[in-house]
Amino acid sequence: MKTKFIFVTGGVLSSLGKGLAAASLGALLKARGLSVTIQKLDPYINVDPGTMSPFQHGEVFVTDDGAETDLDLGHYERYLGVPLSQKNNTTSGRIYFDVITKERRGDYLGGTVQVIPHITDEIKRTVLSLAQGDNPPDVALIEIGGTVGDIEGLPFLEAMRQLRTELGRDNCLNIHLTLVPYLRSAGEHKTKPTQHSVKELLSIGIQPDVILCRCEEPIPADVRRKIALFCNVDEDAVFSSVDVKNVYEVPLKFYDEGFDQKIAIMLRLPARNADLTAWRQLIYDFDHPAGKVTIAIVGKYVELKEAYKSLHEALTHAGVANHVTVDLRYVNSEEISADNVERTFAECDGILVPGGFGYRGVEGKIETIRYAREKKIPFFGICLGMQCAVIEYARHVAGIAKANSEEFDPLGPDKIIYLMTEWYDFRKKAVETRDEASDKGGTMRLGAYPCRVLPGTHAWEAYQTDEISERHRHRYEFNNAYKDAMASHGMIFSGTSPDGSLVEMVEVPGHPWFVGCQFHPEFKSNPMHAHPLFKAFIGAAVKQRSES
Ligand code: GLN
Repeated sequence: MKTKFIFVTGGVLSSLGKGLAAASLGALLKARGLSVTIQKLDPYINVDPGTMSPFQHGEVFVTDDGAETDLDLGHYERYLGVPLSQKNNTTSGRIYFDVITKERRGDYLGGTVQVIPHITDEIKRTVLSLAQGDNPPDVALIEIGGTVGDIEGLPFLEAMRQLRTELGRDNCLNIHLTLVPYLRSAGEHKTKPTQHSVKELLSIGIQPDVILCRCEEPIPADVRRKIALFCNVDEDAVFSSVDVKNVYEVPLKFYDEGFDQKIAIMLRLPARNADLTAWRQLIYDFDHPAGKVTIAIVGKYVELKEAYKSLHEALTHAGVANHVTVDLRYVNSEEISADNVERTFAECDGILVPGGFGYRGVEGKIETIRYAREKKIPFFGICLGMQCAVIEYARHVAGIAKANSEEFDPLGPDKIIYLMTEWYDFRKKAVETRDEASDKGGTMRLGAYPCRVLPGTHAWEAYQTDEISERHRHRYEFNNAYKDAMASHGMIFSGTSPDGSLVEMVEVPGHPWFVGCQFHPEFKSNPMHAHPLFKAFIGAAVKQRSES
């Protein structure tokens, strides 16, 4: 097998940035000219994160093939610059689901089905599947979610242990990320938590090859030596992962430490220096903005920034592309009313209403959109944000006073956003007949769909092309029964599905920049290539600021 496997595990505590570390290493290996893929193994029982609340788990990241995945896949795509798929994220729930399905089908021929070997074999199969196909990657990075010592992570670690023996040392290694706290009162870096975490790994038969220490300041040589000695690793295999103010600096910091170099030697990868020109340019651009814009994000999950991770990143990328810093202000839409809307957004150069589910906070969003439309403030509505923009326009411009979404008012007279029956029946049938090819997750429209862009619109100006593909995650659609009425009052349908049956983008006339889209463009933004719509939105905000 050509592919080399790198497993990344975490110790001591969660939230040390394992995903970012894996993604950054991936970026470095890619910059060395290697082809890289990445996979996240999540120990929870949910079959996928699609059903998990963003409050608890952060955003659900959607891939082109319609998989609802962990938000770390977003980091991976942004750092590697390649689209990922279903294959790149799995959970304990998914593994058990597949094993139980086989068991029910009789595949195990009456044998007792056990965690070892059946669950671990299924995990190994999933990991190894990355190396199949005509063009297997040079390197596969596997991030094991959770912290070493958690009961639920054990089958994944056991599968990793077995793979290391089977594939051999030159083809498989373990990077263990731990915390090395600095105790100010003692003036010392403390290694004990790392020692304990490695002991935990050793007790299940795993000797880590590389220790990556999350720390505030680079760890001094004597502490590095101590960690090497007590954890049985080479002294030059102990690295610091220091706190950074900008997450895109991590690959450069790792490079300075010689991290990718050591890994290349251990795995006998071709010796070549990483070309980090683009990364250095990116950080330079981040550090040298020519100005600043303030953007309000008006939503429901504002207490938890992780819920809007990709959105946050996409806006940041668009800031860099426009040479400005984007100052983000999260506003809880439940607190907005006609009385305070002006005060709330007085300082904002642009307003964004993101996706969401449920009625809570919707009237505040509609109030916000009315303000943005009437006061000609650059506005970007994404998914639910577009649906709210359509409702607002219907109510206040097209004279459809009771316009609403079927999601919020199922019995209302004017469901301008509705559950498209043909679509719904199709989805339902797919679920009932267990037609997996067409069943991409119950009743939602998920994953990439093509869209035709209308020339002469803000959307076309941004994309500069007639046909695009963007990712979706929603149930409701614009109701075409209202298309003529809305168009006669000026609403512009700047994007539709190629056959014209689904509305994908809307705009309002005579406004500097007011665009709503049914899809989630934030999933396809990259630090090196800001998404065209975000770039245009921030561009409009920059203009707004210079004129006001
Ligand atoms: N709740 C809306 C729908 O299901 C919007 C979803 C979203 O914003 N992702 O269509």
